[in-house]
Amino acid sequence: MDLARSQRLEALPPYVYVEIHRRVAEARQAGRDVIDMGKGDPDLPTPPHVVEALLEAAQDPVNHRYPHGLARGLPEFRSAISAWYRRRFETSVDPETEVLPLMGSKEGNLHFCMGVLNPGDLALIPDPAFPAYEAAAILSGAEVRKVPLLAENGFLIDFDSIPRSLAVRARAIWISYPNNPTAAVASLEFYAQAVEFAHRTGTILVSDNPYADITFGGVAAPSVLSVEGAKDVAVELNSLSKSYNMTGWRSGMAVGNPEVVGMIRSMKLNTDAGLFGAVQRASIVALETPEHVLRAKMEVYRRRRDRVVAALRRTGLAVTPPPGTFYVWAPLPSGVSSMDFFTRLLDETAVVAIPGIGYGRYGEGFVRFSLTIPDARLDEAMQRIESAGDSLLPGHPPRDG
Ligand SMILES: *Cc1c(COP(=O)(O)O)cnc(C)c1O
Repeated sequence: MDLARSQRLEALPPYVYVEIHRRVAEARQAGRDVIDMGKGDPDLPTPPHVVEALLEAAQDPVNHRYPHGLARGLPEFRSAISAWYRRRFETSVDPETEVLPLMGSKEGNLHFCMGVLNPGDLALIPDPAFPAYEAAAILSGAEVRKVPLLAENGFLIDFDSIPRSLAVRARAIWISYPNNPTAAVASLEFYAQAVEFAHRTGTILVSDNPYADITFGGVAAPSVLSVEGAKDVAVELNSLSKSYNMTGWRSGMAVGNPEVVGMIRSMKLNTDAGLFGAVQRASIVALETPEHVLRAKMEVYRRRRDRVVAALRRTGLAVTPPPGTFYVWAPLPSGVSSMDFFTRLLDETAVVAIPGIGYGRYGEGFVRFSLTIPDARLDEAMQRIESAGDSLLPGHPPRDG
């Protein structure tokens, strides 16, 4: 029997987190009280009205059978998504042809690649980025080229800097704002540039938008689909995971260009038969969550963000408060590698943050703290960091306030 992994799996880049997990497990084994600010997984529970909707729907035998509509999704969920896009983004999308329920954005990302890309097609992927984009593109046999996200551009893609030879050959390009890991938020003008690039070069634009509702200080993150002509070239992957504390539920959506949505649907038809009906019913209720519930949650992240920013600044890191997401992307002094800082932080304080190199080589020189741990633990972590003082960044004097 041949138990070799497929070439497809072998082609995946080494998973950087393996080394991080190993080091964290070692620290735990040594009896240390590790505080993990690495994972982007909300600690707060799903709102009770959503859980109740699930319980009720789980008792309806209709939902014990294959989901109505199979991969296409429940018509009521598709309508709810369309209504949410109208309310939230003032954008109209046809629930019949331009909306597709997903088991989370990650699922849509893989099925997009498998349904749209051919082996050898060129995929342009930002660096740093959520590792799932590159993984999915590689699994589909595409060739991956990285597009740097630079601090001096506010971590937005500079479309004019993409070499023409790549731009004309690209089949798809990924964007994602509010951004994981850099916490940058994009304006509608940026999305207009992205749509213009896609039109000009004949490239499919994939916008991953799971943090649209996690922003601070009155900033409202737009959707690429609000740009005129976007539906000719763009598909948006969205998710209930982050906005509604539902990472475990696996619920999301693909919205946009009907041909692309159809290709993702064809992949789903041949792999899964759609989301559990009760999850779709509960997702409808989630999308109707009152504004004040979302605002209260944002207030929790804002407080945590400010606590982390203050502590890191006292340690000597030039951090500015991020406008969105539940991450703090902290720049390290020049000459300090992100892996060294990760190691020092773990050794000195037993706090875990992800070294930027884990998101690509342009992530080097940064470290990502996630705000998704309980307040008391977050405060404990920041106290440890403040007490560690100089030992975290030897030779780099602390900054004011
Ligand atoms: C968390 C996250 C997702 C969400 O994925 P789901 O599969 O919907 O849970 C997608 N993209 C990015 C960038 C994320 O950080």
